Amino acid sequence: MTHTVDNYFSAWRDARHACPACEWEGFSVQMELEPHREQSEYSCPHCECLVLVVTHPDLAQVQAAAADGHPEALEQLALLEAFNSRQG
Ligand SMILES: [Zn+2]
Repeated sequence: MTHTVDNYFSAWRDARHACPACEWEGFSVQMELEPHREQSEYSCPHCECLVLVVTHPDLAQVQAAAADGHPEALEQLALLEAFNSRQG
């Protein structure tokens, strides 16, 4: 079964994932990444089956993770704030 990650700031990059279709097991960095607007899709390097779907965080999730001191969230929040301030 394809694994869906609802919490972008959880430790999915550090976790091993098993392909639902073949024997392959490994980390997200080893998979084929297909980025979409709402989510990132990672597929098996072996058989191209979809292994992992990572839902992108919304602003509330970024803010919550940044409040917890998550370094990537802090970075994203800074980018978002810079973007918003350019909007006017
Ligand atoms: Zn596979």
